[in-house]
Amino acid sequence: MIPVTKPYLPSRDKLNQYIDGIYERNWLTNNGPLLQELTRRLEDYLGVENLLLVSNGTLALQIAYHALGVNEPVNGKPSEAITTPFTFIATASSLKWDGIEPVFADINPQTWCLDPNNIEAAITSNTRAIVPVHVFGNACDVEAIDVIAQKYSLKVIYDASHAFGVKYKGESLLKHGDAATLSFHATKLFHTGEGGAIVFKRKEDLERAKTMINFGITGPEAIDDLGINAKMNELQAAMGLCVLDEMDQIGQDRQEVTETYDSRLVGKVQKQQTQPNTTYNHAYYPVALKDNERLTRAMSSLRDCGVLARRYFYPSLESVTCLGVGFKDCPESRNLAERIVCLPIYSGLSTEDISRIAQKVVEVGE
Ligand SMILES: *Cc1c(COP(=O)(O)O)cnc(C)c1O
Repeated sequence: MIPVTKPYLPSRDKLNQYIDGIYERNWLTNNGPLLQELTRRLEDYLGVENLLLVSNGTLALQIAYHALGVNEPVNGKPSEAITTPFTFIATASSLKWDGIEPVFADINPQTWCLDPNNIEAAITSNTRAIVPVHVFGNACDVEAIDVIAQKYSLKVIYDASHAFGVKYKGESLLKHGDAATLSFHATKLFHTGEGGAIVFKRKEDLERAKTMINFGITGPEAIDDLGINAKMNELQAAMGLCVLDEMDQIGQDRQEVTETYDSRLVGKVQKQQTQPNTTYNHAYYPVALKDNERLTRAMSSLRDCGVLARRYFYPSLESVTCLGVGFKDCPESRNLAERIVCLPIYSGLSTEDISRIAQKVVEVGE
């Protein structure tokens, strides 16, 4: 069976050494030495400051909303955040869960990211934030989004769960927005089993979030803010330190997989149009077929030969009723969600398998 992705497992010997240290210190969580080391090394690797490790990517979003005050009601009414319908459910459900109404604006049909041209029409007097997603690691139009945010005094929180290591104009893409969040779930490019991080623009937001992830406790006898438990533990950090050592190899393996797919699929299926000036991280290999019927046939033909491709992302979130009803139609997102599939990509996927998968897609795709 070929899955859509395989969690990368680092050297067991190396992981054991970190675990020996945890046993010696008997320090399992609460800002332990491995967490501190991983924080420093990630800031260095990504080229960012103000990085806060948390227990998963969903809490990363939620802490960012709280630290930036996005959840605060407006004149007694729930605040609103403008986001994309073409993303994983957590982007929008985390807003709703925190009492923030998601408002969907449609995507650009080529880049598959939130289209800045659709944002202004969605702004109301209750809007506090824009929550765009660098979907599949493709950079949003960060400059255009920034102009709108400035004009209306809105916070920008990028869900950068897919954008680990992506550079835009030579610098980390994570530097854009008031905050950018990462997921380190086992299936993500860089992982800690479960985990996540927030990169804040401002140090004071980082400091507030640090308190929030530990119940709002500021000292042995002081509780200064409303908080929650969102701490990453030492075992997660140990996994992260091991995987980080091998990131360059992981990136290279995936680039090779991408190139092999490209040599067989470019021109035969629709691919995501990448933002200029971006260096891609090869986190995903999404392709869009002509229509839903072809997609369904491709999926079942792949399944028949033991390949589990996944329909990322389906359905388009404006149709998910637990998020609210009566959302404005988002035809571009709906259309894409009907015909997109992510093909398997991971270190060790053989050229023969890639060829076989591409062959099946081409057979039904045309
Ligand atoms: C994975 C993912 C999340 C959630 O991250 P978890 O670490 O699984 O909580 C949020 N947004 C997007 C776009 C994701 O892909």
